[in-house]
Amino acid sequence: MGNMAKIAVIKDVLDVEIQEYPIPEPLDDGLVIKVEAAAICGSDQHNLTTKPAKPRTIGHEFLGKIVAMGKNANEAIHSYGGTLNIGDRIVVYPHITCGKCDVCMTYGNGVCVCDNDFMYGGGKVNTSDIKNNDPTVWPHFKGGFAEYVHIFANTYVWKVPDDMPAKIGVLLDPCAVAMRAVEQVMTSIGGLAEGYSISSRCLIIGAGPIGIMAGMILKEMGVEQLVYLDFLDEKLENAKAISGADMVINTSKLTLEQKVALVQEATCGGPNIVIGAANHPSATIEGLHMIRKLGTYVEIGAINADTPTLSNRLVFKKNVHLTSVSANTPACFNRTMRFLMRWKEIPFEKLVTHEFHTLEGLVPTAKLMANPDYLKGVLTFES
Ligand SMILES: [Zn+2]
Ligand SMILES: [Zn+2]
Repeated sequence: MGNMAKIAVIKDVLDVEIQEYPIPEPLDDGLVIKVEAAAICGSDQHNLTTKPAKPRTIGHEFLGKIVAMGKNANEAIHSYGGTLNIGDRIVVYPHITCGKCDVCMTYGNGVCVCDNDFMYGGGKVNTSDIKNNDPTVWPHFKGGFAEYVHIFANTYVWKVPDDMPAKIGVLLDPCAVAMRAVEQVMTSIGGLAEGYSISSRCLIIGAGPIGIMAGMILKEMGVEQLVYLDFLDEKLENAKAISGADMVINTSKLTLEQKVALVQEATCGGPNIVIGAANHPSATIEGLHMIRKLGTYVEIGAINADTPTLSNRLVFKKNVHLTSVSANTPACFNRTMRFLMRWKEIPFEKLVTHEFHTLEGLVPTAKLMANPDYLKGVLTFES
């Protein structure tokens, strides 16, 4: 190859430079994809508004077509869907784990809380290993907001059917977060069947894309009731239309006591499943007040926010199962991919509210994330 291609590099707060580097030949155990689509994650907003220690790549939700393969790529890369060939479209598990640390040895290779985790488009820039996100270090293309990405050994990938739109395939990562949140409530700790069942009443706090996807999954699983809380009517209407929620409540003008009373009345005594997807400090406390005794609370959106006073008395009194999603696994991604494969019957495309077509569109689109009509911004290269 040797031709030049573009990659987005974060230099400073909301300052992304489009740089050019030679398209790499893949390592013997790697491959190179030409990117078809890349999505902006909630965490990318944090990345774009934080000055990096060193200029770095960005983007971990991406999908592309294989254009070059090392001779051992099929042995070294874990492919769901069979042997990889040039021309195949793939979507990627964004983490590469070491297989050797305590987490990997205890829970298995691929669990993304590995002590030596590498994430495509993540924050690692100062390692001696070329698996970092410094774009000046060969093979340069290590983040999804780029025209190409070099895929390293030990990456998990999924083959994407030819007719599946790239902007839907690229939802794999956020949808897997929602899937893992729902799977957390299926664990019945203590044998009292407090978790998911056909009669579950579910409350989701925060009608963003991951909250909506969690609701879509719960509805597909046949729960009895699904309720959303948010501050914005437009977000609540979207959540209802896409997930099929039974009820949405705008809590912007209510006191804590009013919110709790309203939710407990609406859910006949309180939801037994609460998913906190609001990334807001008050959400966890509110959810714990609302939840039914012995219920399960799953926190998925607290990257920017800290709950000021978490009441241990409240946790004790409710006998609540309190858990969270920050670890995920290729196996959960695989179940999620099978869910996304049903894109013809389930309206995933409605989650993509802001599509753009050039790397230069990344920052302007990310700036719209707080708008009430924004769910997911996705870059799709027109070919
Ligand atoms: Zn993500
Ligand atoms: Zn590890």
